[in-house]
Amino acid sequence: MTNLILDERDQKFVLFEMLEVDNLCEKPRYEEFSTELFDMILAEAQKLAVNEVFPTLVDGDREGCRLEEGQVYVPKSFHRCYKLYCEGGWGAMTYPQDVGGQGLPYVMSVAAKDWFVHNFAFLAYPGLSEGAAHLIETYGTEEQKKRYFEKMVTGEWAGTMCLTEPNAGSDVGSLSTKAMRRPDGTYRLQGTKIFITAGDHDLTENIIHPVLARIEGDPPGTKGVSIFLVPKYLVNDDGSLGRKNDFEVAKIEEKMGIHGSSTCLLNFGDNGDCYAELLGEEQQGMKIMFQMMNEARIAVGIQGESSASLAYLHALQYAKERLQGSSITQFKDPQAPRVPIIQHPDVRRMLLWMKSNVESMRALLYYASLCVDREMSEEDEVQKEKWLGILEVLTPICKAYVSDIGFRVTETAIQVYGGYGYCSEYPVEQIMRDEKIASIYEGTSGIQALDLVGRKLPRKNGASFMALLGEIGKTVKKYKEVNNLADLAGHVQDAANTLGEMGLFFAQSAGEGNFLLPVCNAYPFLMMMGKVIAGWLLLWQAGVAKEKLDPLAGEKGVDQSDPAAWKQFISGSKDAAFYAGKMAGARYFIKNVLPEVEATAAAIKSKDMSVMEIAEESFAS
Ligand SMILES: Cc1cc2nc3c(=O)[nH]c(=O)nc-3n(C[C@H](O)[C@H](O)[C@H](O)COP(=O)(O)OP(=O)(O)OC[C@H]3O[C@@H](n4cnc5c(N)ncnc54)[C@H](O)[C@@H]3O)c2cc1C
Repeated sequence: MTNLILDERDQKFVLFEMLEVDNLCEKPRYEEFSTELFDMILAEAQKLAVNEVFPTLVDGDREGCRLEEGQVYVPKSFHRCYKLYCEGGWGAMTYPQDVGGQGLPYVMSVAAKDWFVHNFAFLAYPGLSEGAAHLIETYGTEEQKKRYFEKMVTGEWAGTMCLTEPNAGSDVGSLSTKAMRRPDGTYRLQGTKIFITAGDHDLTENIIHPVLARIEGDPPGTKGVSIFLVPKYLVNDDGSLGRKNDFEVAKIEEKMGIHGSSTCLLNFGDNGDCYAELLGEEQQGMKIMFQMMNEARIAVGIQGESSASLAYLHALQYAKERLQGSSITQFKDPQAPRVPIIQHPDVRRMLLWMKSNVESMRALLYYASLCVDREMSEEDEVQKEKWLGILEVLTPICKAYVSDIGFRVTETAIQVYGGYGYCSEYPVEQIMRDEKIASIYEGTSGIQALDLVGRKLPRKNGASFMALLGEIGKTVKKYKEVNNLADLAGHVQDAANTLGEMGLFFAQSAGEGNFLLPVCNAYPFLMMMGKVIAGWLLLWQAGVAKEKLDPLAGEKGVDQSDPAAWKQFISGSKDAAFYAGKMAGARYFIKNVLPEVEATAAAIKSKDMSVMEIAEESFAS
């Protein structure tokens, strides 16, 4: 089957030529790995994704999930995928080997998952289980690890995350699910959770739900929230399954997309007997759940990037095959031959916009993931803190910028297809429907923007934000004297300076008591920051590509100033075409998209407060 999931050449370029992740193998933590092993893992992931996971994408959408007598059933084809996924150990890549994992660097696990995420309706099942298992690994007692963790790592049992309630969406601290203490140290839960992904299904015999609830008498707000493990079936001391716990799936949501993912409304404790065990300590629920939420935020970013990649590769293939109209150079000649639409300037514009966004988002996600490994493998505390800080600052960008731009890429793919793209006979409308949720769950884009401006920019008195700007500065310095790149490096530096000024402007505004200014402009700022980071990463890629392309051209004696010779060289060498494509994508983005940063900065600096000044009565008559 043809691979239209992601460009494996680009993936390897980002991992090995740009980020040089194989350097991690020199660290004691990862010394048993090698580039060959990494290559092998990616090849296996690609095989499983292309041959097994991708073909179930449409099934998941058409068949969806069904609820029958309290039990949820997933699309039939997901069962085989799930079995193969678990047998391959894909859900346990980063766990230590002594608990059945492979101990892989996080960035490599993200790259491997990048092959599966395009079918998010499927991946949600093992993905959430992995996150829930990780919570138990970090915060569970030895008994809980033995009882739940081991079976969750293998995929025998699944997991979820249960936060949302009808009146507690973004404002999780308003939750009203209650926990009642029992003399034996366990608890009983009562309440309703809505929108729970993988809340029930028939892929595993048991599901362990981490549930946020408030113990009776504990304070209101996030401070009073605790987290509990609530198994679908209670587990006996010998590991066998006991009675069904007292909670029910009241319904599965009818959604716009990801139909193969069961989004459940769960009623806990209607009969007063919903068994629950505390995870960690009382009133530490939000802190504990944040571990899972941070991992999930990166995972949702990968969903945005992966959907965009899938949509882009489909649109590209279509644009090369669909004949319509004649070449612009022959527009007066009705007899001129029909050409593939990729020859039309406006279609090329859309494709290049998609390409540069997809490739910069992939680089961003992998870079942020590499920060996790750097933080974990560094011994020096200052370095550790630096990488952790950059990761923290990048997390809302990975989540919100990538899910929003990812959505726009999927929408642009429909535009490339024209009317056919709007019809369900073609795949791109599903890709767009499936992707939309990424900017909503795990904290909406608006909430991510507040997190960026309110918590991440001021982190360590701005040191983490400055460390990121410092990394951008290093790339600019490297390429600012290089022929063909100096101009681009200058634009990236200007944009980064503007970003830094905006950070100071927000700090000053808040210092002067005008905190509403940064709050009102948090989302534009987040998107502006995403563009600066994308421009930086594309400049970096162009630099690496040029270092490879120049010697290739030199070997063939190609005169780079001769367009005909250059064209012939590019069409005759896959490598040359790839590297030239990287340079073209960077140039396009930095020249055509990055200037939007200055416009956003000017708008923010105008201190216009229309959004707060307009009366609610004036929004519509
Ligand atoms: C398909 C799907 C799967 C999901 N999976 C899960 C899951 O597995 N587990 C789980 O617990 N939840 C899950 N959710 C719930 C999801 O996380 C919430 O829908 C999301 O957090 C938003 O909450 P809400 O829908 O109540 O919207 P609201 O919180 O009501 O937000 C509505 C709008 O108001 C904005 N807003 C709200 N508060 C503020 C504020 N203080 N400042 C600025 N803007 C604000 C939001 O950005 C948004 O634009 C899922 C939802 C869906 C649709």
